[in-house]
Amino acid sequence: MKLIFFINFFILSLFAQEIKNLKHITEYQILNQTINYKDTYYTILRSFKMENKSFYLIVDDNSLETSIMNKEKLFDVFKINSSYKSRYSKLLKRYTKPPYSLQNYGLKHISSKNIYLTIDMCPSSKIGYEDKFFKDLSVYEKTVPITIFISGKWIEKHKESFLELIDMQKNGLLDITWGNHTYNHPFKAKEKLENNFLLTPNTNVEDEILRTEQLLLSYGITPSILFRFPGLISDEKSVKIIKKLGLIPVASDSWIAKGEKLKQGSIVLLHGNKNEHRGIDLINLSLKTLNFSIGSIQKDIQP
Ligand SMILES: [Zn+2]
Repeated sequence: MKLIFFINFFILSLFAQEIKNLKHITEYQILNQTINYKDTYYTILRSFKMENKSFYLIVDDNSLETSIMNKEKLFDVFKINSSYKSRYSKLLKRYTKPPYSLQNYGLKHISSKNIYLTIDMCPSSKIGYEDKFFKDLSVYEKTVPITIFISGKWIEKHKESFLELIDMQKNGLLDITWGNHTYNHPFKAKEKLENNFLLTPNTNVEDEILRTEQLLLSYGITPSILFRFPGLISDEKSVKIIKKLGLIPVASDSWIAKGEKLKQGSIVLLHGNKNEHRGIDLINLSLKTLNFSIGSIQKDIQP
């Protein structure tokens, strides 16, 4: 008994230590500047200070991979005017254009033989997460690509679970792309969709997104350019904000817990926060019986 207490105490104090080491992010600003650095085109998306040093969050215009770069390194780079058409700029334009729809706006399908796993971590009062699902994926021979759309509130209430996911990525067990699912993820069960989720009156959409980005950065995680609207609910105004922030909205053609069938090229929508365990059961069954290969959205998405 004493030993168990000691081990628990030891784990908890290690955990507390890790949390204490969160990086301090300040002066967070939105930018949109294409540059050429060492023969590669990038777009600078944000500038910020981390522990009082200056950094940029940049996206590779071709691979769509994001990274953090020391500001001094980009001191005399070649700035490109905005008429330059990259894979990134074409994708951003394609997936933020009219017509705007209230539901399921954005990337729903990719022309490919793969399927694409996306897992939402909306705020939840449930303890823990679908850890077995993630652990089962980590035993595949090839590291499985997966996009986790994370909300700030889920992180705040599930720090231990979040650190486990980060560790799986660090140890090469999963290839996680960290997508943004806003900070508060507003939701009222009985409210009509036009006034719900990000369309809830007085919601500061920009702040909802930037807050989660900063939280991820404080944990040493680089946010990707992928975004998922809470409840898949949006309007023209919110899409324009996403575009201004340089993010690509990812919707779905296979919310399997709602009965939408899985097919080649499907963007599969799952919940990893224990709020929709049926979806996890269904995807586990499909992965066992249907022999689909799992692809990476960033690699396969076409402008
Ligand atoms: Zn959600």
